[in-house]
Amino acid sequence: MGPLGLPGLAAEFLLSALYPPRCLGCGKFLSISQGFARLSPERAGPLLGGGDLLALLSGWLCNECQDEVAPVESPICSVCGEVFVSRTGPDRVCGLCAERRPAFSVARAAGLYEGALARGVQRLKYGGRMELARPLGYLLQDAYLRHFADDPPDLVIPVPLHKSRLRERGFNQVMLILADWAGRPELPPVSSRLMKRVRPTPPQASLDRVHRAASVRKAFSVERPDEVKDRKVLVVDDVYTTGATARECAKVLKKAGAARVDVLTLARVTAG
Ligand SMILES: [Zn+2]
Ligand SMILES: [Zn+2]
Repeated sequence: MGPLGLPGLAAEFLLSALYPPRCLGCGKFLSISQGFARLSPERAGPLLGGGDLLALLSGWLCNECQDEVAPVESPICSVCGEVFVSRTGPDRVCGLCAERRPAFSVARAAGLYEGALARGVQRLKYGGRMELARPLGYLLQDAYLRHFADDPPDLVIPVPLHKSRLRERGFNQVMLILADWAGRPELPPVSSRLMKRVRPTPPQASLDRVHRAASVRKAFSVERPDEVKDRKVLVVDDVYTTGATARECAKVLKKAGAARVDVLTLARVTAG
């Protein structure tokens, strides 16, 4: 039964007439039939883990925006996932990781932070477009299954916001993207209270690499080290930019005794 107590399809039709579907990337109206292509969790299920970003986003993107979605493709850094400018050769360790190995083992992302995906993340984060949480969540689950399901973490920790930022924004976008993970036996449990952001940090978008690293130093604390000790932890964030946040989170988690820390983000900024 649909949310209005009508059979599913009729309810969906009514809802899409009341709230015409809009493109996740540019906000323009889509046709109602396009909106029908939106995948329910049941219909998305079989596609998850296949790496077909466009199939997962079908019904959420106009044709122009579809052309702009870029998956992360090898060759990449085998540690931080940086996409190499040169598109030849195997995955290997990048210069930055060779010079200063991060405390995390592996960082992976669903797609490149550009075009429609970047705009979708921004529309959720700064525009409060909650309806984007589900399709973006599909991309995250898909990347999780491809990169981490073989040796699954014991728990997932979303990167926390400082309470002042949380108050101002009203939500943590990472928690929204992870909302569909609840109660799914094939996905590790999400623990949002184990780590805290104890220092407010300036918006990262305004800083360069050196300043980003400095701005997040000592920004996080592990609240219940006993729940992290000897566990494999997956840190989840929306965007991997310079890796400063991911490095810092991994550092404090390892210090608290985590056996291994990996990082998964929805999107990744590329240096190239
Ligand atoms: Zn569009
Ligand atoms: Zn690297």
